[in-house]
Amino acid sequence: MNKRNYSKELENKIAEFEKEERAPKLLLHACCAPCSSYCLEYLREYFDVTVFFYNPNITEEREYRKRVEEEKRLIAEYNKQVEDGNFEGMNSDSRARRIEIMEGDYVPGDFLSAVKGYEDCPEGGDRCRKCFELRLDETARIARDKGFEFFTTTLTISPLKNADVLNEVGELAAERINTEGKGTVNFLPSDFKKKNGYKRSIELSHRFDLYRQDFCGCSFSKAQREREKEERKENG
Ligand code: SF4
Repeated sequence: MNKRNYSKELENKIAEFEKEERAPKLLLHACCAPCSSYCLEYLREYFDVTVFFYNPNITEEREYRKRVEEEKRLIAEYNKQVEDGNFEGMNSDSRARRIEIMEGDYVPGDFLSAVKGYEDCPEGGDRCRKCFELRLDETARIARDKGFEFFTTTLTISPLKNADVLNEVGELAAERINTEGKGTVNFLPSDFKKKNGYKRSIELSHRFDLYRQDFCGCSFSKAQREREKEERKENG
C-alpha cells in the first residue's frame, strides 16, 4: 500500500477551499506555543482558526499555566499583526485572519485514567497513542458541538511523534463522534513537520522568545528526559 502524504492531502484540501473562495472553521488542538507557531502562521490564511488548548497530560499545574499563557501571548502577537497589517518577517500576507483561543478542562486524572496500564511504555509507544486519543476525542466533540467544519492538531509538527498514528487517531475520533448522530465534523489530515515546518517553528520560537519545554508533557516523559540527561552526564 502507498504511504499517505498527509502534508499533500492538506495542500489539496486547501486548494479546494481556495477555489470555492471560502475559509472553513477549524478547531486546532494545540499542545504548546512553539508547536503552534508555524501551524498558525500557515493555517490562518486559509481557515478561520480557533485554538483549543486541551492538555490534561501536562504533569503539573505550574507547567500547564506556563504553556497556556505562552499560547495566549503568541496568539495576541499574531492578532496584533493582523490588526496592524504588518507581517514583517512572517510568511503571511493580508489573507491572515484573527485567531481565537478556547481552553479545555485541565483534569490530570483524566489523562492518568486514559493511560492506565501503559505508564511504562517508552515515548512514542502505546501510552502516547492513548494520550492522543484522549485529546483528539475531546477536540472532535467540542468541534462538533460548536459547529466547526474541521479539527486537527499541532502534534504532527513534532519529529518525535508518528504522523501515521496521529492521523489515524484523528480520523477514528471523527468517525466515533459522527456515529452519535448529533452532527458531523471532519478531521483535517496534516504532517506539519514537512515543508520545513519544524525548522520554521524553531525560528518563530526564537523570534517571539517562546518558552520551550524540554519534555513532552507527562510525568513519565519528564522522568525519561531526566534519565537521559543523567546518562549524558555520566558518559561525559
Ligand atoms: S510522552 Fe507526550 S504524547 Fe506521550 S503520553 Fe506523555 S504527554 Fe502524552
